[in-house]
Amino acid sequence: MMSSLLAIGLAVFAAGNYSPWEESKMDGPSAFLAIPLAKNLKLEISQGWVYSDDERSIHPSIPTHFAVDFPSAWGTPVYAPADGVALASYHTYDMVDSQGRTIGYGLGLFVAIWHDKQRLYTSYSHLSGVNDKLVPYIQPSLEGLNWQPRRALYVSIETFRTMAKPVKRGDLIGYVGYSGLRLGYPEVPSNPPKIDPLVNKTWDPHGAHLHWEVYTRTADGGKKDERYDPFGIKGEREKYANVFTKAQGLILANPDGSPQFAK
Ligand SMILES: [Zn+2]
Repeated sequence: MMSSLLAIGLAVFAAGNYSPWEESKMDGPSAFLAIPLAKNLKLEISQGWVYSDDERSIHPSIPTHFAVDFPSAWGTPVYAPADGVALASYHTYDMVDSQGRTIGYGLGLFVAIWHDKQRLYTSYSHLSGVNDKLVPYIQPSLEGLNWQPRRALYVSIETFRTMAKPVKRGDLIGYVGYSGLRLGYPEVPSNPPKIDPLVNKTWDPHGAHLHWEVYTRTADGGKKDERYDPFGIKGEREKYANVFTKAQGLILANPDGSPQFAK
């Protein structure tokens, strides 16, 4: 008798703690994102989940992108693709590429959003500016020549929440750039970064672009844990040809099956 009562109690307890996220974890999260750029732009994907050969040849030690890139003009607005809480910081470090050049690598000026309902982060990197009316900028730490966002990104969800501010789907969060991808000039983190696109060039042949990631972090925030392709493809660039005409992966669909855009 006791054990069956206990079993019923446990079943009720489990039902009371039901969360769509826990149930959907078996298959991964369900669609909740709009594309974070304006629909009226001529959009393409310049790098998919796996780097193309040309970029792998520059940095062979980093073969996988774990992100998608949208090449766009410097200053193109970026919009929150779902509700959440957001903050911004800076991440860049020096590395030597296959040609022996010292290049800047990293996220540059970025916005990270925590989506509480889905329990996922998304991030928007290499920005040329962040909307500081909505998104607080947290100064990174200088470690040698490298700028690390220890107070902003490598933190628990609880700490992230205390610093972040709410954003709604469609809010302007920042502007496309190529911060963090330096060639031959120093970079001092700030919002906006002191980069003149007419003078300070990037080593990246795709120039200014938005780097978009979806992921979880370990409980202490120390590193990325699970990573997701927003389009659910996890392939090279060629596989992303129809992502602007047909919704897939974590991208919300319109009634006609086309992807939703944040603006
Ligand atoms: Zn990228």
